[in-house]
Amino acid sequence: MAVHPDLEPLLALQERDRAVGAIAKAIEALVPEEETLDAELNAHAKALLDAERAVAGAEARRAELESRIAGYKQAQERRRQQLDYVRVAKEASTLMAELDLARGVLVKEEAEFLRSGDAIVEAEKRARDVAKAHAAVVATQAEARQSLAARRAALGAELAAAQGERAASSQAVKPALLTRYDRIRRGRAPAAVFALRQDACGHCFTTVPMQRRVLIQQGHSIEACEVCGVLLYAEG
Ligand SMILES: [Zn+2]
Repeated sequence: MAVHPDLEPLLALQERDRAVGAIAKAIEALVPEEETLDAELNAHAKALLDAERAVAGAEARRAELESRIAGYKQAQERRRQQLDYVRVAKEASTLMAELDLARGVLVKEEAEFLRSGDAIVEAEKRARDVAKAHAAVVATQAEARQSLAARRAALGAELAAAQGERAASSQAVKPALLTRYDRIRRGRAPAAVFALRQDACGHCFTTVPMQRRVLIQQGHSIEACEVCGVLLYAEG
């Protein structure tokens, strides 16, 4: 059994790629945690927005009632003035009836106006409660977010270092072999280089023909599996 001279740098490179992959995976694993925090905070932010809109809505309702009541009062005032000048009994009685009707409406509208004030107070209280709950969530999340950010930063630095080591390691691999290796890595196999498992490819377990196996075992060449395409070597 002998080892092909290109094998050692190739396996070293594969180790570097494994390290890079593991760190990238650890960074990805932070995402669900971040998403959970975001979802919780977003729900509270939305509730806060809704509560603020409800306050604005209640205020608008009150303003609307106020201007409507002012309009009714003006109309009543006009009717009273008209009444002073009306000489025909029938017109007078029509105006009186209108005045009565409008008075009834005004009473209802004014009661509604008072309720609209209560509605504002209630909406404002709810908005304060929701704002408090929102602030509490922000405070509760602060530590978790800080720790997540620190982990992300640390992993980012680790990733950059590992990528640097990977780049340095790739320099030791002959360009043609590196091209083959990188092409295989872009495929479906989880790695590009596998050890023989007895007579078979260590990735797809297809038996490697005797002639190629001998070449591999004697370290004459780095052969690819005919079926799955990964590069094969014999473990010492
Ligand atoms: Zn294979």
